[in-house]
Amino acid sequence: MTTRMDFLKESIQSLRDQNLFTELPVLSTEQRNRVVMNGKEVIMMCSNNYLGFANHPGLRAAAREAIDCWGFGAGAVRQIAGTMEIHIQLENMLAEYKHTEASLVFVAGIAANRGTIQSLMGEEDAIISDELNHGSIIDGVRLTRSRRMVYPHLDMDGLKKALQETKDARRRLIITDGVFSMDGDIAPLDQIVELAEEHDAMIMVDDAHGDGVLGKDGRGIIDHFGLDGRVDIDMGTMSKAFGSLGGYIAGRRELREYLINSARSFIFTTAHPPCVAAATMEALRMVQDEPEHLKKLWDNTRYFKKAMSDLGFDIGHSQTPITPVMAGESRTAVELSGQLFKEGLFAKPIVFPLVAKDKARVRIIVTAQHTDEDLDEAIAIFERVGKRMRLI
Ligand SMILES: *Cc1c(COP(=O)(O)O)cnc(C)c1O
Repeated sequence: MTTRMDFLKESIQSLRDQNLFTELPVLSTEQRNRVVMNGKEVIMMCSNNYLGFANHPGLRAAAREAIDCWGFGAGAVRQIAGTMEIHIQLENMLAEYKHTEASLVFVAGIAANRGTIQSLMGEEDAIISDELNHGSIIDGVRLTRSRRMVYPHLDMDGLKKALQETKDARRRLIITDGVFSMDGDIAPLDQIVELAEEHDAMIMVDDAHGDGVLGKDGRGIIDHFGLDGRVDIDMGTMSKAFGSLGGYIAGRRELREYLINSARSFIFTTAHPPCVAAATMEALRMVQDEPEHLKKLWDNTRYFKKAMSDLGFDIGHSQTPITPVMAGESRTAVELSGQLFKEGLFAKPIVFPLVAKDKARVRIIVTAQHTDEDLDEAIAIFERVGKRMRLI
């Protein structure tokens, strides 16, 4: 045995010492309201399966049919031989849904962010980014040699200042999450658009947690604010509310053409299995034709949040189904999650570096699939554990 890799053991020990080490929890069931997690039956309260589409019979059937028709794998990267008609159908459907000229699908949301930011922005440009933007945006920014300006979370004066300070840049891109995934708050996109137009800067919004959740028919944050046509780059994922997999960029036709020719995370990776495109199209059809899913999601969200704040929990200032149950120290969040699990509820602790060291929490995402009994049981568990731990 050599000692070359011993640093791993030390790094892991150091994470353990800080309560920051995590292991992968393992499901022995499909993703749904009640699951078997690490061998125990629990209410699932932290998936991104907002609309219950991940295990919906409609998506299963669409995927099965596509497997029969197209086989399983795509067999090549998109621009060599991997683009099937069904991939193009999905992109057309996404563009129509998002009210844009075109869209381009990437294998994952992280690939969409990395490839798009990397290919659009060069050394003479400036990127202006909210401090709480998702890690995949930060990765994308790091792949460029652009000047980086990070403004305080949601701070429009900070954004304005950054715009004034980057006047000399060749091009400027403002990037923000639509919904911030740890707190569930929403970017003031109407104000951002005004500032961007005033200063002639491009805007990119990451709608991963807004897709299928906000706006009419779940069309996302741009629809929520009525800003069709005023956001240059609309990024989203098919992997959350749409229950599938993949990321996409919606915008003008030239944006799609440019990315096909220059986004490395698009060029150097194999196309999705065609059944992924089929299932995603079914999800897009369902979110538009069957309003009951979205309605149930919001009814459940309001019910759960009200009960939790009536109990006295600090649930932050979320405007979406994302509900942070604040615990303070990492240790407390880990303890809270562990006790909830013992009582039959699964929600992972969210600790540094995902959030600030003193803002550790358990993040709850209620879905359309939770029944009244699920929610009442979850609330009762939170009450018992919260009292025991003196959080309420
Ligand atoms: C989940 C998420 C992504 C990544 O999407 P994947 O499709 O899971 O790779 C990007 N941005 C935000 C804000 C997200 O929450």
